[in-house]
Amino acid sequence: MKQVYTFGGGETADDPRTRDKTIVGGKGANLAEMAGIGLPVPPGFTITTEVCTRYNAAGRSFDDGLREAVAQGVRHIETTTGRRFGDPDNPLLVSVRSGARVSMPGMMDTVLNLGLNDATVAGLAAASGDARFAWDSYRRFIQMYSDVVLGLDHHRFEDALEIVKEDNGFYNDVELGAEHWQALVAEYKGIVAEDLGREFPQDVDVQLWGAIAAVFDSWNAERAKVYRRLNAIPHDWGTAVNVQAMVFGNMGDTSATGVAFTRDPATGERAWYGEWLVNAQGEDVVAGIRTPQYLTRAARERASAKPLSMEEAMPEAFAELGRVFDLLERHYRDMQDIEFTVEQGKLWMLQTRSGKRTAKAALKMAVDMAGEGLITEAEAIGRIDPMALDQLLHPTLDPAATRDVLTRGLPASPGAASGAVVFDADSAERRAAIGEAVILVRVETSPEDIHGMHAARGVLTARGGMTSHAAVVARGMGRPCVSGASALSIDMAARTARIGDRVLHEGDVITLDGASGEVMAGEVATIEPELVGDFGVLMGWADRHRRMKVRANAETPADCRVARQFGAEGIGLCRTEHMFFDAARISAVRQMILAENEAGRRAALAKLLPEQRADFAAIFDVMAGLPVTIRLLDPPLHEFLPQGDAEFEELATITGLGVAHLRRRAAELHEFNPMLGHRGCRLGITYPEIYEMQVRAIFEAACDVAKSAAEAPIPEIMIPLVATARELEIMRALVDRVAHELFAERGASVEYLVGTMIELPRAALMAGEIAADAAFFSFGTNDLTQTTLGVSRDDAARFLGPYVDQGIYAHDPFVTLDIDGVGQLVALAAERGRAARPGIKLGICGEHGGDPASIAFCEAQKLDYVSASPYRVPIARLAAAQSAL
Ligand code: ADP
Ligand code: MG
Ligand code: MG
Repeated sequence: MKQVYTFGGGETADDPRTRDKTIVGGKGANLAEMAGIGLPVPPGFTITTEVCTRYNAAGRSFDDGLREAVAQGVRHIETTTGRRFGDPDNPLLVSVRSGARVSMPGMMDTVLNLGLNDATVAGLAAASGDARFAWDSYRRFIQMYSDVVLGLDHHRFEDALEIVKEDNGFYNDVELGAEHWQALVAEYKGIVAEDLGREFPQDVDVQLWGAIAAVFDSWNAERAKVYRRLNAIPHDWGTAVNVQAMVFGNMGDTSATGVAFTRDPATGERAWYGEWLVNAQGEDVVAGIRTPQYLTRAARERASAKPLSMEEAMPEAFAELGRVFDLLERHYRDMQDIEFTVEQGKLWMLQTRSGKRTAKAALKMAVDMAGEGLITEAEAIGRIDPMALDQLLHPTLDPAATRDVLTRGLPASPGAASGAVVFDADSAERRAAIGEAVILVRVETSPEDIHGMHAARGVLTARGGMTSHAAVVARGMGRPCVSGASALSIDMAARTARIGDRVLHEGDVITLDGASGEVMAGEVATIEPELVGDFGVLMGWADRHRRMKVRANAETPADCRVARQFGAEGIGLCRTEHMFFDAARISAVRQMILAENEAGRRAALAKLLPEQRADFAAIFDVMAGLPVTIRLLDPPLHEFLPQGDAEFEELATITGLGVAHLRRRAAELHEFNPMLGHRGCRLGITYPEIYEMQVRAIFEAACDVAKSAAEAPIPEIMIPLVATARELEIMRALVDRVAHELFAERGASVEYLVGTMIELPRAALMAGEIAADAAFFSFGTNDLTQTTLGVSRDDAARFLGPYVDQGIYAHDPFVTLDIDGVGQLVALAAERGRAARPGIKLGICGEHGGDPASIAFCEAQKLDYVSASPYRVPIARLAAAQSAL
């Protein structure tokens, strides 16, 4: 296998490996590619990532043959440049640059000006006729090499430079002359000898091999490993090494170095965007040693800056740069992020890659580029990371506003919100009811806090991760949430929260940035999302290209409205349990649960019927003409029980039953493992009157709305937690019976479907039989994941992190569907369901319905729809289009 590939110098290698990022790394591939399309790239060579992998596997030793291959690479550069490496008269200098498949901060820094020593520095001075430049390059080299390759402390070098500047009254590096740099070089060499215990290497080959080994070693440096872990980059990729002839931006006022984007990465505007510095080298632009200059005259004038723009100072090189920009965009058909150097008026390209961009810029560029004919509509769809749309769907903090940051937690749910601090859900509801904006601040949240979370503008918790209750529920509701802000300590008795030495009282205003995890004191201005313009255009394209329908999980008219506005084509999951928590009806719910017999339950249910009817009528109103999947009551009854003395006493007064009696009934309802207990259709089997009431409410509402609405509602009644065909058979008979009774009473009817959730492994396995009574299956992948993995979602936080870190799960299975395992059950159920009942409607309504990777799986299974929380509907529309392309 070839270990070294050359680039530049006019030859065009036809070996595809020279342009393969997995072999030569991203930087190497793009350097070869730029050279191939005739751009001015200093010649060089790339040592492959395979060499790195073998070097590390072999205990840090080089393969036979690498020395010869590198020597040939050096000869390629020498021939092309007409200089010789280590030649005291006309020396070749090189840079040594790392370059993994993907750009990786945390990898080795670049070493510039390699090949300088006490002899070649004189040659460089003579050949260039510029002694200052030669000594400046030498001191840069010693400092960089000592830092990056020899591992010496760079502060000593910086301090030495500062002293020279102070002694001479200089402010800027450019004020130092040749003699100052020369003196500094002597001092630097002294520092090296002292710190290292030996002299700075004078042999240029020793220098080169030292740098090559340092690049390979940096792959296993701690910070690189951490970065890979955080970004899910495999440890066996390895990095390439690029060795390239130096070009010099520090050869006086006709030389410069810079970085640029071919379009504005923040806004997407088609305007060149960048910074440059005259008489400078390498990272000077980003290092903050001098303030960089603007690239274009327009940008300089907008900022009323004095130092000339490149457009004004170097019009020819600038024009050349513009030509390069066009060429690169046309070649890569994407916005490029480039690094360049101008050496005595001549432009050289040192790097290009597809530039990072904000979600807003990504949209604009994709739409613009499709308009320019640079890319197709389908490619434009593919250019947008669906998850990045999240940034655009919520109000965001005005970047121009000042922030008084108190602490930082996890960015659990995006968006920004300001409001008064409240410490419990009831206060949140009370204060929100009178129009106050509140932020619910809790140690962590639980299902009892839902109403408070709904009432609050945002949620802040001290504990809990990205998949904590607070995080999941807040994302579902589209509420910004910062979770796990561990610096926060809450004193419920005093109703205060402490962050370091700052104390928040109930009512104090704070601001959350759910995208960054920042918690700020006071109100910070926000800007509203724009769902029009480029966003609208791109979503329109996505809708044209997708096959699956997209529905929303929603159970309030407000959420349904948001969902419709975001393009939902129905409700995939309307949970009915939240409707039972409402303060006005919870006591009827409790009477029903605690009743001794069916008659008592029916009496309580009769009170709930009109309330439920109104719930469904309101939802049908909003969703007229679209299917609404309503799941009958699912959670174990004890979740609705009274808590604490006050609630029991209140209920005793209403029902005329004793507190002791009620407490005994409540104790009877206790379950050891409620997730696997008396819930789902088991409630419907044992207390059919509950489901009868819900079904009656649904059909009464549907008939009512059908009378007035232009388009009739399409209820799809969903039976939860079915494991056997017989369960569904009984439940379906119940639904049909109630429906026909009511239709007979009313002399009117509506179309409806009865189906089930597939959320237990047995149901998936028995899907063929279950399909006999199911017009549809909706994969309830939250429970299906819990029951297949035997992992409780609410308790997984403690071990999920380590599990993902150790690669036991590739990712959080509650976020991205476990395709290998749970996915098999979905595939099997889909297949058996279809075989038994061709045309059975299939959808997914777990959290996974809003996750792009899981959506791609749903497309592969040819499901009919995915259902996601309202704010994820656009994400799902885009992801569905991408997976269909
Ligand atoms: P990074 O991956 O951190 O961007 P690079 O390898 O791109 O590191 O090097 C950083 C900078 O060093 C480049 O932007 C460029 O300014 C400078 N540089 C690298 N190689 C050369 C070279 N051959 N000639 C001149 N400058 C170079
Ligand atoms: Mg770079
Ligand atoms: Mg479930």
